[in-house]
Amino acid sequence: MQQAKLVILGTGPAGLTAALYAARANLSPLVISGNQLGGQVSITYEVENYPGFPEGTTGPELVERMQKQAERFGAQVIVDEVTEVDFRKGTPFRLKTHGDEFEAQAVVVATGASPNRLGVPGEDGLIGRGVSFCATCDGFFFRGKDVVVVGGGDSALEEGLFLTRFANHVKVIHRRDSLRAGEALKGRAQANEKMSFIWDTVVEEIRGNGKVEGVRLRNLKTEAVTNLATDGVFIFIGHYPNSDLFAGQLAMDERGYLVADKRMMTSVEGVFAAGEIQDPVYRQVATSVGQGAAAGMMAERWLEERS
Ligand code: NAP
Repeated sequence: MQQAKLVILGTGPAGLTAALYAARANLSPLVISGNQLGGQVSITYEVENYPGFPEGTTGPELVERMQKQAERFGAQVIVDEVTEVDFRKGTPFRLKTHGDEFEAQAVVVATGASPNRLGVPGEDGLIGRGVSFCATCDGFFFRGKDVVVVGGGDSALEEGLFLTRFANHVKVIHRRDSLRAGEALKGRAQANEKMSFIWDTVVEEIRGNGKVEGVRLRNLKTEAVTNLATDGVFIFIGHYPNSDLFAGQLAMDERGYLVADKRMMTSVEGVFAAGEIQDPVYRQVATSVGQGAAAGMMAERWLEERS
């Protein structure tokens, strides 16, 4: 059993920034990584909109630097996953991971969000065999191949553009006839010769025997059903918050995002939330960093008031 003043759940930009602020306030925070060290941005190739990097940077480099900076002031990152929390009896809050147990006087939840699945036949069984949720991780394996990207938001276009470095051709399949993505990405995608668009269309099935061989498509306007041969299916259709652990303990909205007030405090005094776990709107590294800073500061203030 480890005792800590502050335990932070998650090592994305929100968790690591909360850790930096808490560490600089001498709280020696323990930061439990979750199943993805560095969070979602660690699997993002290019980050062009984080201030201070006029030439852009990469996701892995950015979070690695954030981690080093938090560690320099005394934060300790523990690579493990929280499996159980008990916030019901107040402080000390109790947490269990696969390998340990913790008691904390305050907690910052920064567990982020995970990619949505299509929920169609073939998808689950072919993950890692042509179905992917991360172009940065898997794009390399599709050198010279034809792939499809599902979705019409910024992620779909950003990841699709990244895939054009490797793939022969990238077809974006979108359920409407206009993109949700912002103008800059839209312009780049539409100008890219290796990219094309299939509008008003959904994927009904992913086909393949041991690896992806094609998709069955349905045009929502004409109801026409067609088969398209492809080697890869990259799915970018939004995210869901990683909040299952807190069901029945922390207040959530109807989609499962944690509810936090202006102090980043959840419905339980002493449990704070930052980043995508409580933010379905902005979802940027820059906003998560700001929320993490606020949560770290507020946790410190809350602990100070009670000491
Ligand atoms: P998003 O903006 O929510 O877009 C999701 C896309 O998937 C939409 O086009 C949506 O269609 C489609 N979709 C949703 N459910 C679907 C389903 N079941 N079947 C087929 N299509 C489905 O998500 P995102 O692209 O991940 O972006 C999330 C946030 O992060 C946004 O605020 C975005 O601006 C931000 N972001 C920014 C950058 C950047 O600035 N470079 C990069 C990545 C993400 P509809 O359009 O019809 O709803």
